Amino acid sequence: MTRIVVGIAVASAAVACAAAAYVVSRRIRSRKHWNRTLGILQEFQSESATSLFRLRQVVDAMTVEMHAGLASEGGSKLKMLLSYVDNLPTGDEEGLYYALDLGGTNFRVLRVQLGGREGRVLRQEYEEVPIPSQLMVGSNEDLFDYIALELSRFVESEGDGYHPKSGQERELGFTFSFPVKQTSVDSGYLIKWTKGFAISDGVGKDVVQSLHDAMKRQGLDMRVAALVNDTVGTLAGARYWNEDVMVAVILGTGTNACYVERAEAITKYQGESPKSGSMVINMEWGNFWSSHLPKTTYDEDLDGESLNPGEQGFEKMISGMYLGDIVRRVLLRMAQESFLFGGEVPTNLYKPFVLRTPDISTMHQDETADLREVARILKSVLGIVNTPLKVRKIVVELCDLVAERGARLASAGIVGILKKIGRDGSTTGGRLKGDQGKGRRTMVAMDGGLYEHYPKFRKYLQETVANLLGEEMAANVTVELSKDGSGIGAALLAASHSQYLNA
Ligand code: ADP
Ligand code: MG
Repeated sequence: MTRIVVGIAVASAAVACAAAAYVVSRRIRSRKHWNRTLGILQEFQSESATSLFRLRQVVDAMTVEMHAGLASEGGSKLKMLLSYVDNLPTGDEEGLYYALDLGGTNFRVLRVQLGGREGRVLRQEYEEVPIPSQLMVGSNEDLFDYIALELSRFVESEGDGYHPKSGQERELGFTFSFPVKQTSVDSGYLIKWTKGFAISDGVGKDVVQSLHDAMKRQGLDMRVAALVNDTVGTLAGARYWNEDVMVAVILGTGTNACYVERAEAITKYQGESPKSGSMVINMEWGNFWSSHLPKTTYDEDLDGESLNPGEQGFEKMISGMYLGDIVRRVLLRMAQESFLFGGEVPTNLYKPFVLRTPDISTMHQDETADLREVARILKSVLGIVNTPLKVRKIVVELCDLVAERGARLASAGIVGILKKIGRDGSTTGGRLKGDQGKGRRTMVAMDGGLYEHYPKFRKYLQETVANLLGEEMAANVTVELSKDGSGIGAALLAASHSQYLNA
């Protein structure tokens, strides 16, 4: 009896001992893993760091690339495309104008009755029309026929309060957000279809001609007075209200910027002199690259696995399409190397683009004490449950790093443009005629879902622009959301480039 009891006692002591040892080793192991998690975070933080010193190098690189892209075709990764928009709206425009906005899953048609300086926008109406999916993979002619049909229906619904001038054709501004080689303000050749449009032909054709042909088939009498992209439309839409607007930036799924340049600075421009001595340049800045950009291994992998490796390098660090995926990649590494989410790597973490930028912004801006929103998204998007608070905090920290880097780099790009046009306070050259330099106010018009719906991103961007400019100059520069300017902007450009202007 006694021996048995002793035996049991010994056995249970051994079990207790082993259990204690297990707990200790697990704690040591998990502390080791936790330190590894922090190590991965710190490594990402230092590789992606955007000190003001580094940002100033990016500012300068942007300016240098802008010069190079303006000097010659192919002189820079910045295409610096001529828009031929040399007459921005002033506020004096009058009459009825239409716009068509194509470049996403919906296209929009819009009409506006302009009442000159006093009346401004008297009336405005728009309709959003989905593009049937079969037309996105059909022929150029079918797509444009559909657009012209919807447009002519919209024109037929024109009611009281809209007054086409008698004997005059209706005029249209066309926002077409695909890569185009512009040949004048109202013509340009399609370079390629993007964004899920897999149209069998149309590349190399004049986009305006395609639309005119389709309108003719519909019996619609209308002239395309301006062909622009969304960035140029945004600039025009904002400029109509405020003549200090010199730059427009889109931060949405993708990113782009345009600005007003002196005609003399555009060496590659061979046309007649622009009417106003200046022209809007479509930078296509998503393709900007500089060795000063803080690229990490995650950025390299993202680029390598993307549909366009080696292209749109700036866009891949700052735009809405990619921010979420950078966060996913770092989380995946933490899951693999330091078991952040337990012994197994959650399978959803392997899926490219599952974690979207709106998810990042929700988690980043979670104000609840226990980070409930973070937990909700980890669960619903990645299938990760029961995350401890300290793990959620790591996730928030990571979102912060990725968004902060993106916003700060975008700011450096903006300040690079301001520097190029002499609106950053650092130079006396490069200004437009009549520019007073220091005291002159400058406005940067912003649009796009990333900027609009992500307040912390917006705050980083605005703060950094101010820091880079310094207090004195920052007082002269405003960065402002200019929503949906691209639609009405195109109509305003039709007005400022109307064939009846000099008549
Ligand atoms: P597009 O760029 O496709 O023309 P938008 O300008 O509306 O369209 O931008 C949409 C993009 O904005 C989305 O792809 C997403 O990256 C970003 N976005 C949308 N909502 C949010 C949000 N709440 N937080 C952060 N980013 C957002
Ligand atoms: Mg858009």
